[in-house]
Amino acid sequence: MKGPILVSACLIGRCCRYDGTGKELPELLRLGERCRLVPVCPECLGGLPTPRPPAERQGNRVVNREGEDVTEAYRRGAEQALRIALEHRCTAAVLKERSPSCGAGRIYDGTFRHILTAGDGVTAELLRKNGITVVGESQIHTLL
Ligand code: SF4
Repeated sequence: MKGPILVSACLIGRCCRYDGTGKELPELLRLGERCRLVPVCPECLGGLPTPRPPAERQGNRVVNREGEDVTEAYRRGAEQALRIALEHRCTAAVLKERSPSCGAGRIYDGTFRHILTAGDGVTAELLRKNGITVVGESQIHTLL
């Protein structure tokens, strides 16, 4: 893989997660030695503050733990992330697993009980629909 590759900003250590944390992933930094990484945080791009209440997908909606419907912010963030991916000609993305934005393949089920179900986060879904290969951080090796 030559890149550039879109990446979840929290995976390169940016403290943009809902709880104000982020963690540098060594495998991703290694990937960054071989190709250009383009970091994005869709939830920040959608206008949400950090920290923020955790949210989960409930079908096509996204609702936070306080019961607020935050779908529009998630959609805006996904569109911005797609725009950036296309601008930089990214053909692949490494995204944070289980997130209601970035999760790829498995996300929480909307009950806030830490139960996983099949599905993509809002951004992962939009990227895939536009032909971008999306993998979670545990699958980075598939891009090497
Ligand atoms: Fe990380 Fe994505 Fe959540 Fe931003 S939206 S904190 S990049 S998982």
